[in-house]
Amino acid sequence: MIPAEEGLRRLREGNRRFVSDLGRSDLSTSQLRRSVLATGQEPFAVVLGCSDSRVPAELVFDQGLGDLFVIRVAGNIVAPSQIGSVEFAVERFGTPLVVVLGHSRCGAILATLEQLTRPREAQSRNLLSIVDRVRPSVESLLATELRHDPDRLVSKAVRANVRASVNHLRHGSELLEKYLHTGKLLVVGAEYSLESGVVQFLYGIRGA
Ligand SMILES: [Zn+2]
Repeated sequence: MIPAEEGLRRLREGNRRFVSDLGRSDLSTSQLRRSVLATGQEPFAVVLGCSDSRVPAELVFDQGLGDLFVIRVAGNIVAPSQIGSVEFAVERFGTPLVVVLGHSRCGAILATLEQLTRPREAQSRNLLSIVDRVRPSVESLLATELRHDPDRLVSKAVRANVRASVNHLRHGSELLEKYLHTGKLLVVGAEYSLESGVVQFLYGIRGA
C-alpha cells in the first residue's frame, strides 16, 4: 500500500496536472486496468467530498480507476453511513489516507445560511438533516461581524465545515481513532476552488 505522505504527494501532483490542463490520458481507465482491478482494489486514499457536479474527486486529482475510494454527499458532511464507508476502506483495503474535500461557494453551506437567516417551515426533513449537520460550523460565524460580509462568511463557513468533518472522522469512530493513534491513518482537510481548480490542503495533523 502507498503510504499516506506519498498519497498526498500524488494528489497534489494530480491536481497540478488538472489545473494546467495536462490531465493524463494514459492507461488509468484502460481495458487492461479494468481487468486487473476486477479481482481486487487497493485505493491509496479515501476522499469524502461534496456531491456538487463541479467537484468530481477523480477528475480534480487526475486519478484513474482503483485509485480513490470516493464518498460524495452534499456539504461533505459526516453522518454514520459516511463513517461506516471510511471504516470499510481503512479496514478492508488498508487505505492510510482520508481527505475531506470541501469547495468554494458550496450550495449546502449557502442553504444552511439561508435556513438560519430566513427559516422556511416547509423545508424537507431530509434536506434539513444535512443542514443540521452543517449548522454548528455556520452558526458561530453568523454571530460575528462576518454576517455583514457574505462572501467572507461563506468562505469561512466552508473551511469551518471541512474542519468539523475532519474532527468528526477523527473522534466519531473507535476504529478510526485506533488507526490514528497507531499512526496508520492520516485524516486531512482540503478545499477546492471552483474558480481556479486548485485544491488547497488545510489540516494535516497525524493523530488526535
Ligand atoms: Zn458543495
